[in-house]
Amino acid sequence: MIPAAFDYIAPQSLDEALRVLAAHGEEAKLLAGGHSLLPLLKLRLANPKLLIDLSKVPGLSGISHQDDRIVLGALATHYQIESSKLLKSKCPLLPETARIIGDVQVRNRGTIGGSLVHADPSADWPAAILALRGELKLSGPKGQRQIAAEEFFLAPMITAIEPTEILTEIRVPVLSRRCGSAYLTLAQQASGFAVVGIAVWLRLDTKGRCEDIGVGVTGLSEKPFRARPVEERLRGNKLTLKLIEESAAQVAEGGDPLEDLHASAKFRAHLAQVYTSRALQEAVKRALGRKV
Ligand SMILES: Cc1cc2nc3c(=O)[nH]c(=O)nc-3n(C[C@H](O)[C@H](O)[C@H](O)COP(=O)(O)OP(=O)(O)OC[C@H]3O[C@@H](n4cnc5c(N)ncnc54)[C@H](O)[C@@H]3O)c2cc1C
Repeated sequence: MIPAAFDYIAPQSLDEALRVLAAHGEEAKLLAGGHSLLPLLKLRLANPKLLIDLSKVPGLSGISHQDDRIVLGALATHYQIESSKLLKSKCPLLPETARIIGDVQVRNRGTIGGSLVHADPSADWPAAILALRGELKLSGPKGQRQIAAEEFFLAPMITAIEPTEILTEIRVPVLSRRCGSAYLTLAQQASGFAVVGIAVWLRLDTKGRCEDIGVGVTGLSEKPFRARPVEERLRGNKLTLKLIEESAAQVAEGGDPLEDLHASAKFRAHLAQVYTSRALQEAVKRALGRKV
C-alpha cells in the first residue's frame, strides 16, 4: 500500500500547470482532492513519475452565478457544493447530489472535477451533470474548448479529455420558475457509490406539461448516460403517474446493465426503473411547488 516514488510540483498558475503537463505528457498526473488518485497510486494501478498538484492554481474552486448559468470551478469540493447557499436556491440538484457522496472526509477533499475526470461508472456527479445538460470547459496547450457532458464520458474511467488538458469549469443552468429536480440513488453500503443513481431535471410549462427534461443515469452500465427515450416520451406531455411509469420502463434502453457483486443485471435494471419513476415524481412535485 505504498506508492512508487514520484516527483511533485504545485504550479502557481493555470499556465504553469498546462506547461508542466505538456512537458511531461502521460508520465504526469494531475492531483485534485486525491480521493480517487491516491488509492490508485497505493495499489500501483497508476505509477506517474510526476504529480501536478492543482491546489495552488488560483480561480479553479469558486462557485458563481453568471447570467443564466451556474459556474463551478473544477476544484470545488463536494462539501463546498453541499453547503453552498447559492446552489441551494439556484440549482438544488447539486447540493442534493453532493451530500450523499462518501463520508465527511471524502466530501471535504474530493472535487467535482476530479470525480468527472476519474469517470467511475458508479460515481454520483455524472448523473446530475448529465441531467442538467452541463458543459465542461477544458484548457490545453491549444487554448480552451467546451464539451457537453453527454460527449465527455466514453467508457469506464475514460473521458474525452486529452492528457495535456485540464478541466477548469463546469457550467449548468440556473433553476427557474416551474423547474424541479431530484437525485435518488441506491448506494453501496461500504463506499456510498451508486448501485444505481438517477438524476432528473425538468421544467413544466404554464399548463403543467413537460417543457424540457434531462435524465442522467449512473451505476447502471459501463458509463453514465442520458436516458433519452425516457426524456422523449415525456417531453411535451402532462406528467401523469401512468406516463411516468411507462417512460421509466425505458430507462435501461440506453445501456447494458452491469452485473457484479452488488447486483445482478436484472436487479439493476429493475432498480433503475423504480428509481427513475420515483425521481421523476419527486421532480414534478418540486416543480409544482416552486414559486420562483
Ligand atoms: C472512501 C471513499 C468513498 C467514496 N464514495 C463516493 C461516493 O459515494 N460517490 C462518488 O461519486 N464518489 C465517491 N468517492 C470518490 C470521490 O468522490 C473522489 O473525490 C472523486 O472521485 C475524485 O475527486 P478528487 O478531487 O479526489 O480527484 P483526484 O483523486 O485528485 O483525481 C482523480 C482523477 O482526475 C484527474 N483530475 C483531477 N482534477 C482534474 C482536473 N481539474 N482536470 C483534469 N484532470 C483532473 C486526476 O489526474 C485523476 O486522474 C469516494 C472515495 C473514497 C475514497
